[in-house]
Amino acid sequence: MGIISKMPVLDVHSLDFFSRSPEQTRRLGARLGAVLRPGDVICLQGDLGAGKTTFVQGVAQGWGSLDSVSSPTFIIVNEYRRADGNLLFHMDAYRLDSTPEAEELDLDSMLADGALLIEWPERIDGLVPAEHLWVKLEHVDEEEREMKFKAVGGRYDDLLEIVRHTIGGD
Ligand code: ADP
Ligand code: MG
Repeated sequence: MGIISKMPVLDVHSLDFFSRSPEQTRRLGARLGAVLRPGDVICLQGDLGAGKTTFVQGVAQGWGSLDSVSSPTFIIVNEYRRADGNLLFHMDAYRLDSTPEAEELDLDSMLADGALLIEWPERIDGLVPAEHLWVKLEHVDEEEREMKFKAVGGRYDDLLEIVRHTIGGD
């Protein structure tokens, strides 16, 4: 009696990781990218320079993109291709300031064809699919970033497990 109530709360749906270099952030992204499937949604929240696009670079590499990653500055969504015809969508919602504008993006049709990575997901809050992997990145030091992962839904618990194993063996 009493022991369980004194144990720290272990939240299986979330994970905190400190990346010590851009390479480490890319490597973690690559491990996740390698297992992404059409319909998967990964949200990347964090200030400018937090490492969102750096993480996407790793995801795209691990996924097998034929195209290189660039920040979607003038267009909202970049589309990356793979040799087997699969697609990876990379959205930057920073400039979306109205819901009608965002609704035109038609996330559903993107998700039917590929996985989706969203930078600034909080800007399209109501449109983000209920189930997703949410990653919050924060600047700690010049080369250090805190990455807080939160899984919503069974598929994302599985992806979080892969992240957990990657970190454990890094
Ligand atoms: P965002 O897309 O969030 O604005 P970027 O990925 O474009 O951020 O930029 C992150 C910058 O921070 C890059 O210049 C990257 O090299 C640098 N950086 C330093 N340390 C890290 C780290 N641990 N993880 C990710 N990026 C890092
Ligand atoms: Mg960016």
